[in-house]
Amino acid sequence: MKKVYFITGSQDLYGEECLRQVAEDSKVIASYLNDKIEGVEISYQATVRDEASCVEACAKATNDPDCIAVITWMHTFSPAKMWIKGLQFLKKPLLHFHTQANEKLPYDEIDMDFMNLNQTAHGGREYGFMVTRLGVKREVVVGYYQHEDVIEKIKKFIDVARAVDFSKNLNVAMFGSNMREVSVTDGDRVESQIKYGWNVNYYGIGDLVALVNEVTDAEVEAKMAEYAELYDINTTDLDAVKEQAKYEIALAKFLKAGNFGAYTDTFQDLHGLRQLPGLATQRMMAMGYGFGAEGDYKTAALNAIFVEMAKGRKGSTGFMEDYTYDFTRGDEVVLGSHMLEVSPDFASNKPKIEVHHLGIGGKEPPARLVFDGVEGDGVAVCMIDMGNRFRLICASIELVKQPKPMPKLPVARIMWKLKPDHATGAAAWIYAGGAHHTVVSTALTVEDVRLFAKLTDTELVVIDENTNLAEFQEKLDMLDLLAKLK
Ligand code: MN
Repeated sequence: MKKVYFITGSQDLYGEECLRQVAEDSKVIASYLNDKIEGVEISYQATVRDEASCVEACAKATNDPDCIAVITWMHTFSPAKMWIKGLQFLKKPLLHFHTQANEKLPYDEIDMDFMNLNQTAHGGREYGFMVTRLGVKREVVVGYYQHEDVIEKIKKFIDVARAVDFSKNLNVAMFGSNMREVSVTDGDRVESQIKYGWNVNYYGIGDLVALVNEVTDAEVEAKMAEYAELYDINTTDLDAVKEQAKYEIALAKFLKAGNFGAYTDTFQDLHGLRQLPGLATQRMMAMGYGFGAEGDYKTAALNAIFVEMAKGRKGSTGFMEDYTYDFTRGDEVVLGSHMLEVSPDFASNKPKIEVHHLGIGGKEPPARLVFDGVEGDGVAVCMIDMGNRFRLICASIELVKQPKPMPKLPVARIMWKLKPDHATGAAAWIYAGGAHHTVVSTALTVEDVRLFAKLTDTELVVIDENTNLAEFQEKLDMLDLLAKLK
């Protein structure tokens, strides 16, 4: 199980009795959080009392591959010069927990001993100064450790920290390269690896075709039985469905063997495949793999990372594309879909397997899952390569029920409203250079994306109910200027 180190800061000045109490309280808090937070171990660590113990704790956290984050708490005052070297060693997401062992002040009993022992208000400021001075990105959570809302904030931090850890170990397979001439889906793969840890490599589609050709009839029949259970098979062209079943089986083998968390393909490079993977890719997305169409490795990686972040939460997360609008005044909506590849995580009804002609790519009609989309508050996020830095663009959106049936639309779809209004939201996205490919999630919030951007030191622009187009453009100008100065 992954771990979050719980490190308490103090110093030798107060004597052994006080340090014994500090250790005891720290164990109680770490253990309380451990009981309340699932999926990760909150691991109590020895109290930091001088520079050497601080370096030891931070180096241990950095070197432990199971450690995804560090929580620090200043129980007493802890002179922060002793934290400099340790914090310089620390390469894990950091949460500064500004809490106390006591909720209420013991008004009748309080004396100087109590004050010296319980002074997070004091020690947290000294420590906070040094973290700020060193430029270490961190989350600060304030409040009594047993309060539910405080624990919720820690849980959210851990979700993002787990996603950052996942990102650092993410392998992305590109079947074929980026779609010819397309700009926004392209990017600097070396810089992506330096900054986010993504190991992105190209594979010939023939490597996948070889696996497709090895798939047995028995494997296909088992897959078809699975489809029949999960979906309505709304076609008589079962051969086309079986073809996608083979792709799914081959993709699963390829991705598992190479320990890949995400992949891309492109309709411009399908030599040896009879169809563009549609149903197959939808199934892989349902299993949690990230996907980016047309060689979009950034969206593929972001998709996998956001699925990891959303684990254990309610809601849907997946690859998406802005396709077309309804411009009816006051009722504007975006219709999001793709040629085929929409994650069944977005389905609000039982998906149907259908086979239709696809006018692009020059291949046989592919099988795909068709369904209507979920509703609810969500985010649409993309990553673009600005040449001298990456930028995340996050729009707060509202997924809505489609106003009318679309019986002739042969693909799955979702629909959403932009904020603060359609014209402002779309213009802001375009001014920011936002892509047509995104990851949409109803499980994640703007705050999750903000924290991910902070912990990965990525430029972020947010489009929400408070967006003012003039100020937004000024911010973009300012960000360009800052990037030039760096
Ligand atoms: Mn696309």
